[in-house]
Amino acid sequence: MNSRSLSKLTQLPCRRGLAGVGALRSFSVSASRSADFTHAVIGGGVVGLAVARALAERASAASLSSSASASASPVLLLERHSDVGTETSSRNSEVIHAGLYYGAESLKTQVCIRGRQLLYDFCEQYGVGHRRTGKWIVAQTPNQRNALEKIYAFAQSYRGGRVDLQEDEVLPLRWVTADEAKRREPAIRAEAGVLESLATGIVDSHGLMQTLLGLFEDAGGVLASGSPVVGITPLGGVGDAPGSGGWQLHVKPVGAAEETVVTAETIVNAAGLGAAAVHNMITQGDTAGPASPPMQLYYAKGNYFSYSSSQPRVSTLVYPAPDPGVGGLGTHLTLDLAGRIRFGPDFEWVTDPTDLAANAARLPSAIEAIKAYLPGIDAGALQPDYAGIRPKLLPPGGDGKHKKDPDFIVRSEPGYKGWVNLLGIESPGLTSSLAIGEMVEKLVYSR
Ligand SMILES: Cc1cc2nc3c(=O)[nH]c(=O)nc-3n(C[C@H](O)[C@H](O)[C@H](O)COP(=O)(O)OP(=O)(O)OC[C@H]3O[C@@H](n4cnc5c(N)ncnc54)[C@H](O)[C@@H]3O)c2cc1C
Repeated sequence: MNSRSLSKLTQLPCRRGLAGVGALRSFSVSASRSADFTHAVIGGGVVGLAVARALAERASAASLSSSASASASPVLLLERHSDVGTETSSRNSEVIHAGLYYGAESLKTQVCIRGRQLLYDFCEQYGVGHRRTGKWIVAQTPNQRNALEKIYAFAQSYRGGRVDLQEDEVLPLRWVTADEAKRREPAIRAEAGVLESLATGIVDSHGLMQTLLGLFEDAGGVLASGSPVVGITPLGGVGDAPGSGGWQLHVKPVGAAEETVVTAETIVNAAGLGAAAVHNMITQGDTAGPASPPMQLYYAKGNYFSYSSSQPRVSTLVYPAPDPGVGGLGTHLTLDLAGRIRFGPDFEWVTDPTDLAANAARLPSAIEAIKAYLPGIDAGALQPDYAGIRPKLLPPGGDGKHKKDPDFIVRSEPGYKGWVNLLGIESPGLTSSLAIGEMVEKLVYSR
């Protein structure tokens, strides 16, 4: 599972001469058979890792079934930091979401439900730490009760095209009676009702990413860590779609004086908070082709608070009823795999995507939010802990309120050849990662 720095690319097959690499290649998905790599994935978070693993396993299976004796490394994963998964993928709640919040038509719902099912199976198969904790969504007011009723109605009606399943098998939910709530979680206040999601769980996100990395490398993939992509040029003849001749990636390895240039037949932009910058590297330099408009991301920080007291005891995840316009799912209570309680994330617009210190000034409002459902909280045991940043596709509304979240963008970028673009992969991106990997593989190979 060792990763290799791009500075060592000279030792890899791709640097031995492009003609030789092309001759070794046992399959190709595009016209450019002389590229160093078949696919380059930019960004080694959980989504980039899931995509890279899916592409590497597909390529490895194809080369095994062909008569070629060897093949060049088919997939390159480029990560700017020295390790994978140090940005948003390791700064979240580690919750395996059921898929309750995003509406019937959204890609978020589709990949969250599919991703959740794939993720539970993956964790079982590869021994990644996880637990089906379930989750309570609690209401304190009639309005919040209405919000729960809406979620329940959605879950009852949503089958995601699965006519073979009972309606409550796709998004299983149940109402918890007041007596049961008091018996199971006496510390939790829920004046107007509790809805329990049975499919929700938690996962060890680091274990998940290390396992994906291992599978990727076992399938012949190459990780170039410490390798920020600083420029991208689509290749192609006059009149061809940009990218039809492959892609040139300019990489500035950490500590190196010079840029390194590698080529790939297809590219996947999975750069998370850096995804708009990567998008703009392509479109801004592209004077000939049908350029996509530039992208901008906005940043919404989520602060977490650790809890050092063992009282009150809570053994399920607890979320307040969603409050439209506030952003996020509300400061909730989650558990890690050791059973430790943590609170968060809250929702704070920031301008700097590297502003990752938990904001202590947010503690009083977090305490207020937590007390609504956990009145016995020992406020003195709460401490600012860590923060993660959501890559938002829309800015705050004029009133400073949060607009309805746009859907995930996962698409073959129109007007280009061989560019799959992933933008706005906020929550439930961790849950959805394996499904996004599956989807990108289909996009790349269906061309
Ligand atoms: C506060 C918070 C709580 C969340 N809670 C949950 C949850 O409980 N459940 C859930 O399902 N989802 C949750 N999410 C969402 C989930 O964490 C993300 O959707 C997911 O981690 C996104 O993964 P990613 O790989 O797209 O992005 P990232 O993890 O950000 O990875 C992108 C990578 O790209 C690299 N990169 C960027 N630019 C370049 C470049 N130019 N060259 C090379 N590399 C580059 C970065 O260094 C980074 O490693 C939460 C998110 C936040 C912010």
